[in-house]
Amino acid sequence: MNYNYRYRIEPTDVVEAELARHIDTCRQLYNHFLYELRNTDEYLSYTAMQNMLPDLKDWWDDLNDVYSKVLQLVARRVSDNLDRLKDQKANGRNVGMLKWKPPREYRSLTYNQSGFELKNTSDQPLLSLSKMGEMPIHLHRDIPDNALVKQVTVKQEQTGEWYAIFGIETETDAPKKPALDEVDRDEMVGIDVGIIKYAHDTDSTMVGSLDLEDEYERLAREQRALSRKQEGSQNWHEQRRRVARIHARIVRKRRDFLHKLSNYYAREYDLVTVEDLNVHGMMQLPSNSQNRASASWRTFVDFLVYKCERAGTHFVKVEPKGTTQACAECGVEVEKGLWVRGHSCPTCGFETDRDENAAYNVLQRGHQELGLGHADVTPAETALPTSTTGDSSTVVDAKCVVETGSPTSRTSRVSGE
Ligand SMILES: [Zn+2]
Repeated sequence: MNYNYRYRIEPTDVVEAELARHIDTCRQLYNHFLYELRNTDEYLSYTAMQNMLPDLKDWWDDLNDVYSKVLQLVARRVSDNLDRLKDQKANGRNVGMLKWKPPREYRSLTYNQSGFELKNTSDQPLLSLSKMGEMPIHLHRDIPDNALVKQVTVKQEQTGEWYAIFGIETETDAPKKPALDEVDRDEMVGIDVGIIKYAHDTDSTMVGSLDLEDEYERLAREQRALSRKQEGSQNWHEQRRRVARIHARIVRKRRDFLHKLSNYYAREYDLVTVEDLNVHGMMQLPSNSQNRASASWRTFVDFLVYKCERAGTHFVKVEPKGTTQACAECGVEVEKGLWVRGHSCPTCGFETDRDENAAYNVLQRGHQELGLGHADVTPAETALPTSTTGDSSTVVDAKCVVETGSPTSRTSRVSGE
């Protein structure tokens, strides 16, 4: 299995200048290969480009400063882009030639197989790169044991921040999970993705919404400041960078939260059921939050899809319509307004939290969707507390998810407040 792990790095000014210089040398080499390509009628292979390197180094001093494998990877980049172009042509698309890269479109370099080392023995982990130096790295999550780091790409974002992207490979394939018809009820989960809470599942785990209001307020403030500046001026450029940084922070926080939440479900369960985008629920939000909420929802579902696949967990997405109103026990429609937080069925007497009832319906529908027939998804005892802070429930602050990596371990639940 192959994964990418992305970490923030903080090079000193000296190392940063070196990184920028090496990247620019790579960019010039990339453009040089394009120039050579235009002088040949034929396709330039990766090997042909690689074989040019020793001669180039004779007269092009800057190339000698860059780690040799990094230069080979530039040839690889040109050759990959050529292949892609060839495919597009083969598919009948009218494509031109590869374009020269200006500095703002060429922002990274890659160390492959050698020339990099992760020093993780002191309090401050360091990334060491040959012919470059060492830089502090924020290892906010561990690289799995027995994983092999195949390559490291160092990249500067538009915001000016630097990142190291580790391409890693693990020998172990996805853990063996049971076949669909052998999944135990305890290992199934239905998730109701909500408005007030972020998620509520059939195991009574609730996850609060990630509060990014402060960040959004700041973003709006800085955007207003940007609009007052003279476009193209020095101040304008600085302000634009500031806006980009806040925006990037918001995106990072939300993705981090969704990564951890989706990881938790994919890892802990054998079958995960979630409802498809709930347009009806979305309409209850103020319009400026709707786009944000639906984007975050789609990201969550996308993450779940690939993480479940990676973990060998069965996954199904179901129709969201009516999951809140229907009684999960008997199927009767129990009308409830937004303010009604509990579900209490006059027909069968089933009582539970409103969102938990929805989560049961999600799981039930997943069952039907997968052809597993009707299942008893609700707990055997029907007299559950209707209060959302009842003993059977666990409330988890979204912040906990971001900080600890999972809402709560299923074996040792930690209650919020
Ligand atoms: Zn009922």
